[in-house]
Amino acid sequence: MVNVTRRGFLKLTGISAVAVASGLGFDLSAAEAKGFALKLEGCTKIPSICHFCSGGCGLLLHIKDGKLVHLEGNPDNPINEGGLCPKAASLEQVAYSPDRPKLPLYRAPGAEDFKEISWDEAIERIAKKTKEVRDKTWKKTDEITTSTGEKKIVPANRAEGIAMIGSAEVDNEESYLLTKFARLIGTPFHEHQARI
Ligand code: SF4
Repeated sequence: MVNVTRRGFLKLTGISAVAVASGLGFDLSAAEAKGFALKLEGCTKIPSICHFCSGGCGLLLHIKDGKLVHLEGNPDNPINEGGLCPKAASLEQVAYSPDRPKLPLYRAPGAEDFKEISWDEAIERIAKKTKEVRDKTWKKTDEITTSTGEKKIVPANRAEGIAMIGSAEVDNEESYLLTKFARLIGTPFHEHQARI
């Protein structure tokens, strides 16, 4: 049996790879770059946000014929400046996963399974429930104790049963609208994890 050292093995395999590539007359790096350029030719670039973690890194989606063909970090995004972590590389699989929910899911009280419902139905249910909870938990007044020890009833006008939470993927303008909405329905319980 021939004794090959680690260093010798790497040298040998490196030389063989170069020999095979150059022997076939290929410049692999140029061919790969050309293939990649062809893949992206005619694509529309759409900026988006990675949904995996609270980092909210910016993505550039390359879309051709309505299909995502490639994604990369968005160099114009101030959070990641074009970089992405390895998790984001699997986003293409998420986009076309058969397990991905495409419609709102609803589980009726007592039911074991979720069923798909339309967006119209989901929005109507949420609106009705919001109104119902708001009416039921509306706090019209508060009792306070003044600095002189006197008890006083003061207006409160609070929706005690509703809280709102944003996310790292809600941008500045969406946060503005969420805040407006929280004030409109009268809830002071409003949290957000701002990143973008
Ligand atoms: S690219 Fe990585 S770090 Fe950035 S949001 Fe996605 S998962 Fe988080």
